[in-house]
Amino acid sequence: MNPTTLSVTPSRSSYDVVIVGGAMFGSSVAWFLANNPDFDGSVLVVERDPSYEFTSTAHTNSCMRQQFSREINVRVSQFAAEFVKNFREFMGNDSRVPKLLLHSFGYMYLADNEEFANVLRESQKIQKACGAATKIMTAEEIKRDYPFYNVDDIVAGSHNLVDEGYFDGNTLFDWWRRSAREKGAEYVTNEVVAMTRNKAGTRVESVTLKSGEVIGCGTVVNASGPRAVLTSRMAGIEIPVEPRKRYTFIFAAERPLDRDLPLTIDPSGVHMRTDGTYYLAGCPPDDDPAVDYDDFEQDFSLWENKAWPAIANRVPRFEAIKLVNSWVGHYAYNTLDQNAILGRHTTVENFVFVNGFSGHGFQQSPAMGRGTAELITYGEYRSLDLTPFNYERIERNEPFSEKAII
Ligand SMILES: Cc1cc2nc3c(=O)[nH]c(=O)nc-3n(C[C@H](O)[C@H](O)[C@H](O)COP(=O)(O)OP(=O)(O)OC[C@H]3O[C@@H](n4cnc5c(N)ncnc54)[C@H](O)[C@@H]3O)c2cc1C
Repeated sequence: MNPTTLSVTPSRSSYDVVIVGGAMFGSSVAWFLANNPDFDGSVLVVERDPSYEFTSTAHTNSCMRQQFSREINVRVSQFAAEFVKNFREFMGNDSRVPKLLLHSFGYMYLADNEEFANVLRESQKIQKACGAATKIMTAEEIKRDYPFYNVDDIVAGSHNLVDEGYFDGNTLFDWWRRSAREKGAEYVTNEVVAMTRNKAGTRVESVTLKSGEVIGCGTVVNASGPRAVLTSRMAGIEIPVEPRKRYTFIFAAERPLDRDLPLTIDPSGVHMRTDGTYYLAGCPPDDDPAVDYDDFEQDFSLWENKAWPAIANRVPRFEAIKLVNSWVGHYAYNTLDQNAILGRHTTVENFVFVNGFSGHGFQQSPAMGRGTAELITYGEYRSLDLTPFNYERIERNEPFSEKAII
């Protein structure tokens, strides 16, 4: 989509649904609404920066996995795999829509102690019950299938080669945006800067745009990524979401591996995987505070002192590697439990959340977008019960924790 074709000014003065943020989640919700014959309302998507330069969406590693500790997260990712593998069919057999790549090199969680090995074993049972192909491997089995790993300190690994790996989420995003617009959702380049509520404080009546227009709304959807808390505050709501820096490094190996490197989650906290002819590694900083919304400064000491040593230890062939690219992105980090926050607010009843996805939002966007569209259209989730993610738990301060967080 050419950003210059987007208008600043909405064509109407009120919409049934106003979505604040038009990246992966804003576009997912917009598409699932616009594509649903039972939804006949109007949709406005307000996006402050249609280049998406500083979004989580533009910095993602775009991988999916079945390896979660919560059944609902497994099911959410299973829908992602189904959606990606049958993308054209989901997009109405539109012949312009390409086949999406899903490169299933698998994830490999490595445990260097019995306690974490037991976490992997428990999670594997949950995944298996959902039909996932995850296997617990001994160090010897890992070495047999992937001789390049150093497994000297490894107690067990958890691995799955079905529907786990890289997928072309950016093409999916492009098509959701394009198709949502073709089906009537209106995108504008503008910023929501304020909201008004009714006297009782139970509804958002309008959003105010940076350009001054006041736009009435039936429902307002917070799809503002790491800025979600700023958008919530406009409606007088606090949520535990903050921007946290995540570092990605692309490297070339002097002696490349003879097979794909699974997305390996090393006990050090560094992860790495195959990335075409290169390799990708990522990690959080040791000290992991909330950062400024505009802070994308790189920290190469993290590469030198944390990522590289961990990589060379786990895969000794990677002693000779060269950094070829790197970037810093922001997670919309849910400090309560690193899980999604969905559903309606308890008192501001037309305020809907799609927030706090931390590091696994790309793969959750099909199921969460579909569920949110169902909630808006029917007043309930229909395809998959997403109520465990509902906002109520935030108010009750009851974490819905996920153990498999990267
Ligand atoms: C380094 C990194 C690696 C990741 N790897 C993976 C992975 O491998 N697999 C996976 O599943 N997930 C991954 N994720 C997570 C995933 O990328 C995110 O969960 C997802 O992109 C979030 O999309 P979003 O639309 O919620 O947020 P964003 O992409 O940040 O979009 C929010 C949008 O809202 C707009 N906005 C904000 N406030 C306003 C306002 N007031 N008015 C108008 N517009 C506004 C912003 O401009 C922005 O475009 C990763 C994330 C990062 C940072």
